[in-house]
Amino acid sequence: MLMRILITDGLAKDAVKMLESAGHEIVMDEVTPERLLEVAGDYDCIIVRSRSKITRAVIEKGSKLKVLARAGIGVDNVDLKAATEKGIKVVNAPLGSTISVAELAFGHMLDLSRGITKGTAALKQGKWLKKELKGFELEGKTVGIIGCGRIGQALSARCKAFGMKVKGFDPYLSQESAKNAGIDLLNLDDLLKVSDYISLHVALTDSTRKMLSAPQFAIMKKSAYLINCARGGVVDEDALYNALKEGRLGGAGLDVFETEPPVNPKLIELDNVTFTPHIGANTKEAQDKAGVQVAEQVLLCFSGKEPEFWVNRPK
Ligand code: NAD
Repeated sequence: MLMRILITDGLAKDAVKMLESAGHEIVMDEVTPERLLEVAGDYDCIIVRSRSKITRAVIEKGSKLKVLARAGIGVDNVDLKAATEKGIKVVNAPLGSTISVAELAFGHMLDLSRGITKGTAALKQGKWLKKELKGFELEGKTVGIIGCGRIGQALSARCKAFGMKVKGFDPYLSQESAKNAGIDLLNLDDLLKVSDYISLHVALTDSTRKMLSAPQFAIMKKSAYLINCARGGVVDEDALYNALKEGRLGGAGLDVFETEPPVNPKLIELDNVTFTPHIGANTKEAQDKAGVQVAEQVLLCFSGKEPEFWVNRPK
């Protein structure tokens, strides 16, 4: 059966071609939230990235909706409960951004260690900060990876290549898989105590929300750097701000925030933090891979087959 598909946040050309070649009608329209409510009822499927929010209200207006698709991994912008109640399949594309996010986390580690951003900003103001920008090598340092799935393991490989020691915390990863990925599993407290760099790679769930807060910052090394390219809600931002402001942490590299945008202005003022505006998956390669993968999932749904990445699959 031919379907009407709305793409609200853009999609890789190859992915659009795949959907068109299967005969489906594609509408690409970067609708506002108000417009989305008006048009939701015209479509069998909506494909989003992270900008569009598929709220309960959108789902209730979408009387023909059969599939909601996220060209990426995080589905926190889709009301899963409402979709499941209406029998709408939610699919995603979790594999495309792995390398891009791991590289960004590693980029923050390098920047924090060598002051690339600080040097750039200072030179633009005519300042030559040679003495102030005395840095650290990554070689020989310990990185603690919290959440050792796809991205955590890709980061581990990059850290190993730089001669770092890799520790991990992941209650669901077997010792054998950790060993194969070159990760030495520890409990969370031990990881926090020994790591020079701590990088978060967990999904935002009830068990990970604010998993790093004041008690965790209190046991980290005073020189430690925290990298968060996962989700803002995993860290208690006020507690992080206090730890950074009071010099109880070396610094932080943040791609994600509790609110986005705007980011808490207090945080932005800190000068021992490197910031990126949630661009972990924002590379040509990641977007191309995620687009093609999500198109595959949508086509599986519409050909009556079970999608591989079915987020609200009945248990
Ligand atoms: P993944 O599912 O492969 O890995 C997540 C790992 O976390 C799993 O191994 C799981 O066992 C582990 N885990 C679950 N609960 C845990 C807990 N309480 N403590 C420690 N570990 C726990 O996912 P992934 O592909 O590696 O992606 C990880 C996260 O990265 C995503 O959920 C998303 O939030 C984030 N992400 C961010 C961007 C960005 O733009 N910054 C892009 C893509 C993904």
